[in-house]
Amino acid sequence: MSIERTLSIVKPNAVEDNNIGNIVGRFEKEGLRIAAMKMVKLSKERAEGFYIEHKSRSFFTSLVTFMTSGPVVLMVLEGEKAVERNRTIMGSTNPADAANGTLRKLYAKSLEANAVHGSDSLASAEREISYFFDKNELCGRF
Ligand code: AMP
Repeated sequence: MSIERTLSIVKPNAVEDNNIGNIVGRFEKEGLRIAAMKMVKLSKERAEGFYIEHKSRSFFTSLVTFMTSGPVVLMVLEGEKAVERNRTIMGSTNPADAANGTLRKLYAKSLEANAVHGSDSLASAEREISYFFDKNELCGRF
């Protein structure tokens, strides 16, 4: 068994559209467990730090503006191969390319307002989880 943890974010457009429950429910239905969860409004500095690897990209300022435009739900998902499974459940970054039934196909508005974030690797997951959560906030089984 390869139990992993990954960071998931319900982005402002999905919170605004009342889809928190649909998204969390989907993860649970797929067998991932919620190991930590909190709803926050990100500051500009916190969002910039989170997306620091995209700092030089043309969409960086717009992405930070979007991610600070309303509350988000930060979650740690736990389960076997959680990183990859979460990415499959989310679908492609661009909702136009996302497969039917994926979270982005169902709930995204655009490439930027794409409903959910998920860590892209185990190394990113570790960095992203520790960016938003203290160790004592993790309530997983492992
Ligand atoms: P990622 O680190 O892969 O999650 O990328 C960060 C986020 O930036 C994506 O989830 C999209 O919301 C956004 N994004 C990625 N590429 C673009 C783009 N070309 N234009 C606008 N937003 C983008």
